[in-house]
Amino acid sequence: MYINELICKNCGGKCCKYYPGHTLPKDFGNSKDEIFNNLVLAFKSGKWVIDWVDKSKNLYFVRPAIKGKEGYVFEHSLSGECTFLSDKGCTLPIEKRPSGCLYLEPKENETCIPHLSKINSSKQWQIFLDILFDAAIEAEKIDFEL
Ligand code: SF4
Ligand code: SF4
Repeated sequence: MYINELICKNCGGKCCKYYPGHTLPKDFGNSKDEIFNNLVLAFKSGKWVIDWVDKSKNLYFVRPAIKGKEGYVFEHSLSGECTFLSDKGCTLPIEKRPSGCLYLEPKENETCIPHLSKINSSKQWQIFLDILFDAAIEAEKIDFEL
């Protein structure tokens, strides 16, 4: 995990303005049940989406929504500002941030170093694809009041 509040404060969150960080399955829990339940809650909030590197190779990943595009479960914008970015920085506590954000090493002059690629994240999500798609279906179910 790489945190440098001073460098990031001076930068103003250029990475977060360009594109949200990608997650790993472990960001949502330590067991399949926990991951499933937290994914359902995340998708229902409208602030987390499933995106993909290559559908034909089953390379999907989860990331925060982009501002103005909240409320979708599947979303594939190529760039846009993370829904969790405020003018004071990230609104998520550090332990709730995507691994892709925490593995981006802040450096001066926009030379930050990514230590977790989107493809490697997607490969980790491949093991959990059944849970990922079941959670998407569950989140999109409409609750009818009797
Ligand atoms: S990680 Fe880099 S681009 Fe992102 S806010 Fe920090 S200094 Fe800016
Ligand atoms: S979750 Fe936070 S740190 Fe990560 S891209 Fe969004 S605003 Fe930036």
